Amino acid sequence: MSTLTSVSGFPRIGQNRELKKIIEGYWKGANDLAAVKATAAELRAKHWKLQQAAGIDLIPSNDFSYFDQLLDTAILLNVIPKRYERLAFADPEDTLFAMARGYQGDKGDVTALPMKKWFTTNYHYLVPEIEPGEEIKLNSTKPFDEFNEAKTLGILTKPVLIGPYTFLKLARGANAQKLDYDKGLVNAVAAVYAEVLTKFNELGAQWLQLDEPYLVLDKEPGDVELFKTLYTKILAAKASVKVLLNTYFGHIADVYETVNLLGFDGIGLDLNEGREENLEAVAKYGVASGTTLFAGVINGRNIWRNNYATSLGLVDALKQVTANVAVSTASSLLHVPFSTEGETGIPADDLKHFAFAVEKLGELKEVAVLADATEDEKKASAALAANQALFDGTRVASDPAVAQRVAGLTADDFVRQPAREERQKLQREALGLPLLPTTTIGSFPQTKEVRAERAKFRKGEITKEAYDEFIKGQIDACIKHQEEIGLDVLVHGEFERNDMVEYFGQNLNGFLFTKNAWVQSYGTRCVKPPIVWGDVSRAKPITVEWSAYAQSRTNHVMKGMLTGPVTILNWSWPREDITHEEQTKQLALAIRDEVLDLEAAGIKVIQIDEAALREKLPLRKSDWHVKYLDWAVPAFRLVHSAVKPTTQIHTHMCYSEFNDIIRDIDAMDADVISFEASRGDLVVLDAIHDAHFETEAGPGVYDIHSPRIPSEQEIEDRIYEILKKMEVEKVWINPDCGLKTRGNAETWPSLEHLVAAAKAVRAKL
Ligand code: GLN
Ligand code: ZN
Repeated sequence: MSTLTSVSGFPRIGQNRELKKIIEGYWKGANDLAAVKATAAELRAKHWKLQQAAGIDLIPSNDFSYFDQLLDTAILLNVIPKRYERLAFADPEDTLFAMARGYQGDKGDVTALPMKKWFTTNYHYLVPEIEPGEEIKLNSTKPFDEFNEAKTLGILTKPVLIGPYTFLKLARGANAQKLDYDKGLVNAVAAVYAEVLTKFNELGAQWLQLDEPYLVLDKEPGDVELFKTLYTKILAAKASVKVLLNTYFGHIADVYETVNLLGFDGIGLDLNEGREENLEAVAKYGVASGTTLFAGVINGRNIWRNNYATSLGLVDALKQVTANVAVSTASSLLHVPFSTEGETGIPADDLKHFAFAVEKLGELKEVAVLADATEDEKKASAALAANQALFDGTRVASDPAVAQRVAGLTADDFVRQPAREERQKLQREALGLPLLPTTTIGSFPQTKEVRAERAKFRKGEITKEAYDEFIKGQIDACIKHQEEIGLDVLVHGEFERNDMVEYFGQNLNGFLFTKNAWVQSYGTRCVKPPIVWGDVSRAKPITVEWSAYAQSRTNHVMKGMLTGPVTILNWSWPREDITHEEQTKQLALAIRDEVLDLEAAGIKVIQIDEAALREKLPLRKSDWHVKYLDWAVPAFRLVHSAVKPTTQIHTHMCYSEFNDIIRDIDAMDADVISFEASRGDLVVLDAIHDAHFETEAGPGVYDIHSPRIPSEQEIEDRIYEILKKMEVEKVWINPDCGLKTRGNAETWPSLEHLVAAAKAVRAKL
């Protein structure tokens, strides 16, 4: 029998982001729900057919979602907090959107569920909230409907669900409490999955894929027991449908033996991120006789071509242990863009090094065919020869001057003088800010008008002068508005930037850009990471002119706005031929040049965003420092270590879950940090308190990911919560992230409430 091919999941947003457009249209009232459903069905059909045409054996279904697959799982299990049910929408989709985005209207006023990053990706999931006494039951027919929909098209798919273990580990109780995995809850969840299994059996599915990425994390006491309890119950319901236990984003060496003994028909292993450990575990414990190993060899996290020789070697290594090996994507392809087709801006000679989701289907198939080929057939294979040639040739643009500069760095380059406490005193005098200073994270709403002007400029329809005039107008208006509502530290609004990473990439040597390589970040929001193609250096000053212009228009302190090296790398497609550490150092030197130029241009406060620093923290604790923090934190220090003591360095992080690395964050040695904390729980405030955090901090006082306008009272309450845990001298008042994706209609009233709340609290101090 020939080697089976399996895709863990396929991007759902559409080649031209059709799903985004139609859903956002629905939110704005431009089209109805029926139109959303019709587009969704078209996209699903298109994606299934593409995979069928590529010769994929196990094509996923139920990998589609209107917003998030974990939210779908919660709804499937009837995990819907009462406050959303009370809105009493006629359509379940409206309840779903209320859980995802919050709701403010004639039916009520509720905040959204908290949103968190999906493991080490830039994809965000909604945190399921299981209220006490919640009745867990099968509550939706979505997985069955989509399976039947594909079946009608003549495609027998492999339904995909997030497994019960990962679901329970990511879910929270009411008020963000940690869940207590009591017997009733665990049994009820297992019972629903068993029912799903039975149902798919009836429907004639051959494989069911249960994703358990949480298995790649360190285990807490009770975790393995929980996993075993769940699956012993679920697998007891098994009849003819085969169950693939799928893992990704790391290795499961610590539970492989247990998993192998449970009697799954398939075990999916990530041979990209968890390679060595997974291979060792398989070699050590073997593979149960009825189990097929799904070798995750096609990288679902990066866009460089697969090296077939390497993949074949991995398949071979598994074949030493068992004959039952299938090939698969290492994770869902959700995290890569749709297709390289149409990327005419990149020279064909460069583009041939990349494979997006559609091209990865072809790679998967070719690897499977080669895995079955004899040595002679391999020698004659044009596909293998072409692939080999790609990796034999030179791929990237190298620059010896960059290598030299990195090699010349000394320990002093990573240390800022004098010590922070001293600096903070000097800065207080120099900047003359009130207690609880108010500020924003940088960007203001990028209206249709702003995007239209940029498009015109890009297409050459308006001159650079006209475009610059337009941006200046936006900056002027934004500054005036900020002054009017009484913010303390102003920003210019970032109107000139399409994106906080792409904008910098465009002004650095060593990057390539795509036209349409979007990947989903949260809900309908997508990002388009640039590609690190060679050694990186700064081509010319990037932001200096805009920041200096903005400062010239106001007597308030104007904050300069940069993206940090770790974030630029994490939100780009990194090179695979040199380490991330090396690439980050190159980026740090480039941004350091910009910091010093901003300071020389009279900018007194400079924010260096490290929005994505926490995102790529390795999933296993033992890897945190050696594989990441030991170079990521120093890279940030390298960026700002040479500024004057009175220049205030801010940073921003889009994440609240850094309580466990709080000392490392402090060691970045910024003067001020702002972070997202309004949608998450408040644990990080405890951590700040307990760690005697030295950096001044602005834990976001309202959630910008929701269109909801917070009341002044709400913000005031939140400030008091913060003041319970932090010294007032160290607290900043700001929203929890940039305002770029919001509209002006909700932004300005929200900020007015923010300023009013800060003033009210200040008056009572
Ligand atoms: N300065 C950026 C902005 O306001 C930060 C965005 C982010 O952290 N994602 O848009
Ligand atoms: Zn942010």
